[in-house]
Amino acid sequence: MIDLHCHIDLHKNPGAVVAECVERRMYILSVTNTPSAWEGTASLAVDAPRIRTALGLHPQLAGERRSELALFDKLLPRTRYVGEIGLDGSPEFRGSWDSQLAVFTHVLDACARVGGRVLSIHSRRASAAVLDCLKTQTRAGLPILHWFSGTTRELDRAIELGCWFSVGPAMLCGDKGRALVAAMPRDRVITESDGPFAQIARAPLMPWDVESAVRQLADLWSMNVVEAGNIVHANLRSLIARSLTEI
Ligand code: MN
Repeated sequence: MIDLHCHIDLHKNPGAVVAECVERRMYILSVTNTPSAWEGTASLAVDAPRIRTALGLHPQLAGERRSELALFDKLLPRTRYVGEIGLDGSPEFRGSWDSQLAVFTHVLDACARVGGRVLSIHSRRASAAVLDCLKTQTRAGLPILHWFSGTTRELDRAIELGCWFSVGPAMLCGDKGRALVAAMPRDRVITESDGPFAQIARAPLMPWDVESAVRQLADLWSMNVVEAGNIVHANLRSLIARSLTEI
């Protein structure tokens, strides 16, 4: 099983979550919301080679943590994975929009300077602006849009720009999310939990809850669960191969 976007450090007992992921032999991209959280979060997974820790600066924190960009630049050479980054156009974060744009642009430029990174990107109510930034800075690396919720036209644009997609149980619950996932290229879709932020029935999603996302994908793709799981695993191999050759 694969969870390409989860916040292990924000779960109640991160050590226990890591232990269970190791036990289940899961492949995990453990994203962080601030550069200052990266070292501690990476240290949780030192003995877990299937867990990689991404360096991030979440758009919802861009306003108050913009000063951590210097630390971002300093840590960037130490990881091939960057996230959670992006833009959030929700009303409650409009006040920080200028900072968000400055931070996201800085991060993309920094990634381009070091040869590109695998990027896990948030784009809630900001799909068009995120795509504009990716189009402007084409050397930032390999973009994965996490929980994409734009329009079908924006989805087409994202596909054209070479974006990948991580999709989870919460997204696949709703009709809109399911329709978007159905329209995504099957060879660019990977599962995620986005726990503990993403919840179902008020329970934070755990990395192994991606199992239900695989079931939903199987349903959308009209195949059995084993076949859908194989496709998601093949996609991860292809993503890693691309990240090694292209960036
Ligand atoms: Mn997230």
